Amino acid sequence: MRHMKDKVEVRFLGGAREVGRSAILMSYRNTRLLLDYGVLVGDGKPELPIHVPPRDIDAIIVTHAHLDHSGAVPFFYISCTPPLYTTSLTKQLSDILIRDLLNLSHYYLPFEVLELVTMLDNTRKVKAEKTVKVKDATITFFRAGHIPGSLSVLVEIGGRYIWYSGDINTIDTRLLTGASLEGLPEVDLAIIESTYALTDHPDRMENERKLIEVLSDVVDGGGLALVPAFSVGRSQEILCILEAHGFEYPVAVDGMARIASKILIQHPKEIRDPELLRRAVKKAHFVTGGKDREKVRKRPGVVVSPAGMLTGGAAAYYMEKVAKNPKDAVILVSYQIPGTPGRRLLDEGRYELKGKPVKVKCRVEWLDFSSHCGRKELHELVKSLKGSPTVVTVHGEAEACKEFAAWIRDEVGFKAMAAKLGEKVVL
Ligand SMILES: [Zn+2]
Ligand SMILES: [Zn+2]
Repeated sequence: MRHMKDKVEVRFLGGAREVGRSAILMSYRNTRLLLDYGVLVGDGKPELPIHVPPRDIDAIIVTHAHLDHSGAVPFFYISCTPPLYTTSLTKQLSDILIRDLLNLSHYYLPFEVLELVTMLDNTRKVKAEKTVKVKDATITFFRAGHIPGSLSVLVEIGGRYIWYSGDINTIDTRLLTGASLEGLPEVDLAIIESTYALTDHPDRMENERKLIEVLSDVVDGGGLALVPAFSVGRSQEILCILEAHGFEYPVAVDGMARIASKILIQHPKEIRDPELLRRAVKKAHFVTGGKDREKVRKRPGVVVSPAGMLTGGAAAYYMEKVAKNPKDAVILVSYQIPGTPGRRLLDEGRYELKGKPVKVKCRVEWLDFSSHCGRKELHELVKSLKGSPTVVTVHGEAEACKEFAAWIRDEVGFKAMAAKLGEKVVL
């Protein structure tokens, strides 16, 4: 029997039965680690994970730059300076994404640019396959294959091994090589994302061909095809697909995807085929400002722009025109969180224009170019874990987290649970 104080406690501060504000606190004796501290970006104000006093935290690990993992981290730098471990690329990308978040929602957030700058100053760069020590914890990083710079994390603490998938994709995409878990030992606890736990992804090549077909169709008919996409990852994946298929129509890139693309081509080691990305970025037209944007909006062509779920950004500007025009199209290429305009468009065919939800006239398509494991890949991932870990399912809608946990119990025989917000696992 271990003494009480020797227990390892893992608490789910967010991302529990929801997609957004991922945050996990690990405590053992005097060591406290925070893995991710994101925001939940719905339709209104961003929501933060459960509060933790910043002075209690010894180190923060950020798995990747998406705001649902990194967005609220500057909160810890108001009065403290804990070290933050992440990749050099995630550091650069979080800088631009959190700045953008502050521009849009600073009124709702408990920190400002100054705290972001302090956060960046306290960032220590790590890489996949590298290990760092923080007090009683040894932390090892693995390539997660989700977006450039993304990691999964193994923490050895108090003699227990805990693996957190972060957002993970085990298959290759145009932009990235799939996740690698080579060298992952037997773990006591595995915390695994569940975004697509109930959905199999369609065949990727088939999807690519469909995308090319739809886009060519729309442009041939004199229309504008809007592809709302996350600025980091998905936008560049779409550009790479178009380039790989020799797509000859005009392609414009707008919003934060422009600067993200320029950052990514400076990190060729993080990209599967850096030459393909470089060519794709070179060929695309990067929108230069208001007048240029107006021109792009008027002419037939393709425009790739955030926000991926139509929550704002330049995509919203293009939607004002596209929504009213039967020749145009909007092609959603990612998971749409419930409550977002993108989800409403898919479910009801409606989009809010000047405060009024209107039935859109344009063609609406959803082609899933996910950068997460699908059902099949998640099942394989769990089956590949050595030993008999307890599995906690996170980062999915409630049904997905619960059913995935039930599948793990029934089919694999591991203990499994869909953590609730604030719930603790004690090892
Ligand atoms: Zn992500
Ligand atoms: Zn995420």
